[in-house]
Amino acid sequence: PPVLVLFRDDFRLTDNPALHAACATGQPVLCVAVQDEVFKPEGVIGWWMGQACTALATALARRGGSLLVPQGETLPVVCDLVKTTGASQVFWNRRYDPAGRETDTTLKSVLTEQGVTVHSLAARLLHEPWTVRTGAGQPYRIFTAWWRAARELGEPALPLPAPAEIRFAPVPEPYSTATTPSALHAPDLPADATLAAQYWPCSENAAQTALDEFLETALVHYETDRDRPDREGTSGLSPYLRAGLISARQVWHAARKAEARSGDHLNTEKFLSELGWRDFAWMQLFYEPDMPTRNLRPEFDQMAWQNDAEAFQIWKDGCTGYPLVDAGMRELRATGTMHNRVRMVVASFLTKHLLTDWRKGERWFYERLVDADPAMNAMNWQWCAGTGIDASPWFRIFNPVGQSEKFDPSGAYIRTWVPELAALPDKLIHTPWKLDATLARHLKFVPGSTYPHPVVDLKQARAIALERYKTLKPAG
Ligand code: FAD
Repeated sequence: PPVLVLFRDDFRLTDNPALHAACATGQPVLCVAVQDEVFKPEGVIGWWMGQACTALATALARRGGSLLVPQGETLPVVCDLVKTTGASQVFWNRRYDPAGRETDTTLKSVLTEQGVTVHSLAARLLHEPWTVRTGAGQPYRIFTAWWRAARELGEPALPLPAPAEIRFAPVPEPYSTATTPSALHAPDLPADATLAAQYWPCSENAAQTALDEFLETALVHYETDRDRPDREGTSGLSPYLRAGLISARQVWHAARKAEARSGDHLNTEKFLSELGWRDFAWMQLFYEPDMPTRNLRPEFDQMAWQNDAEAFQIWKDGCTGYPLVDAGMRELRATGTMHNRVRMVVASFLTKHLLTDWRKGERWFYERLVDADPAMNAMNWQWCAGTGIDASPWFRIFNPVGQSEKFDPSGAYIRTWVPELAALPDKLIHTPWKLDATLARHLKFVPGSTYPHPVVDLKQARAIALERYKTLKPAG
């Protein structure tokens, strides 16, 4: 009888422990990606997961096999497949999100009752959420302490190679039409995500290329350039990690090899610690499953958010009149991504200057990011809003002009995404409202018409934000 392998957020052949172990049984393998609600979220991420699934199907086809993509909920579909094929073993890589865990726990107990052996393996993270704990057995709440403890566990496991051979099981008759691509019903890209497809080629090879290029050119400047939206200073790997087109262990060990070549420890360590933040986010979600919707600091439940619908729309449209904020929001809409530094600036601006509940921003990001990730998005929003554990405090309010002058000094990033400011001199591109009338006329720049007036006064908005914070009473 065949063995089944379920693919969910791990659309790769290399370093895929579930696939590897299934092939090692010597039995024919049936590769399955069930199109349930977990697999098919709405928004740009839904499109991306569909692309990743198609890429895996293509890779399997090259080896003479196929990917089965039946529609429906995981439990009945997998049980039916087991019954139809007579499979005695099912393999998957573990999930850590609340819905995925719930589904997998039920599925495991139902299959076990039917005499089917379930093998669940660790693939997604460097260290599984429960493996790094304080001496008292509690989850860590501070990243630096958690990271120190994680490092004491030693280097993460070496990545597995792609299976040398996959013996494919025939697709059972009732499922013969459920092979990609025509059977896949992934959402389309939103019409205004005009550049996403061109920005994000989707395959294991594309992920590997992004990694190689980064290690070759940018890793040795990572510590400084990672904050510069006007430079190619980061890896661009987050969407690939999200869909599992590459694993964190592959990235880790490739960075270690690059370090051995260059001798550059400092930048490598900084980069590896960012992969650590990814694990840390998943650890938080594991212990706080409602992190995407609940203030982890409960005193923020009392916050008098303004939640002005018009201001929120202006922020989403990238028309706030603050060039760096607008550049970021437009980059997000067009490409499905935004530079990390700019994500922090726009999140601070929304929550503190516009006094809008971080959960609204979190949802908009989730809808539009190609790397939209339940743990990382929620943790980072709570970090920026000051509502999270080990978060940036509320009173640290980013000044969008200062951030812009510091991290995009010549305005190259702003010019890319806010073309109506392209002709402004470097010095004034961060503060277009300071342009004198003669120069403005010469540049055909009409404040309030060719580019919006600032939506709020920074000083005033900051004072209100600090005032509101003072009214919160400590919880408990
Ligand atoms: P690199 O700098 O090359 O970093 C390498 C990897 O480390 C990343 O791919 C990512 O896996 C991890 N990493 C880097 N920064 C962080 C971080 N702050 N937290 C956790 N892991 C990190 N990232 C997502 O993948 N999905 C999200 O939904 C998401 N939402 C965010 C929302 C906000 C408000 C903020 C401030 C950040 C968010 N991030 C999110 C984190 C970060 O912005 C992206 O991971 C990063 O920009 C991806 O680019 P890169 O792969 O070039 O990063």
